[in-house]
Amino acid sequence: MKPRLSEPARRYLKQVRDIFGDEIYLDLNEIDPEPEKISGDLEAFHREVCECQKCPLGKSRNKFVFGVGDPNASLLLVGEAPGRDEDLKGEPFVGRAGFLLDQILKAIGRSRYKNVYICNVLKCRPPENRDPLAGEVEQCEPYLLEQIRLIKPKLIVSLGRVAGQTLLRVDKPLKSMRNIIHDYYGTPLMVTYHPAALLRNENLKRPTWDDFKKIRDFLEA
Ligand code: SF4
Repeated sequence: MKPRLSEPARRYLKQVRDIFGDEIYLDLNEIDPEPEKISGDLEAFHREVCECQKCPLGKSRNKFVFGVGDPNASLLLVGEAPGRDEDLKGEPFVGRAGFLLDQILKAIGRSRYKNVYICNVLKCRPPENRDPLAGEVEQCEPYLLEQIRLIKPKLIVSLGRVAGQTLLRVDKPLKSMRNIIHDYYGTPLMVTYHPAALLRNENLKRPTWDDFKKIRDFLEA
């Protein structure tokens, strides 16, 4: 008789297959799904800057979106700025794109609360999700630099073209920023697709999975 998978296991495998196609990588280690209570310097820094009004986005935001995850993470994921759902919840990468990102992290044996920290370059939402302006980046990027100083990640991964261009100060297509280990103020940085782009274009799932295998290997080396 064939062994039968439980329903949750079957659902999980289907989700991973939906994301990555037939080549799936499973890490069967237990992943703690619960957020750890963040304390210490990172939380103190959060409290210090959460009322920021250094640029006009401070007036239009609903919530300041500092970041979420493990304060000792080896992997730091950075998007460009909060979107509508993030602005309402005060947490980066929620909604469908956030769910997809969580599935990708699971497939490399991590989660947003375990050995990963997630944040954005801007901590407040630009109106209508427009790209960050240079002046906003200039005001807000020091917060990201301080987060990096406190977390000390082994690798930064920027998610999406705009985040990559903003951090690297280049005007290049995402394709030409991928597959390179860049340097961001002394920390290695890789660029891959934003999970929202994968929701719009199925064909990006395979190259994204290739990137995350490289990310996994870099972190485990
Ligand atoms: S986007 Fe950054 S600099 Fe502008 S108000 Fe928000 S936290 Fe301050």
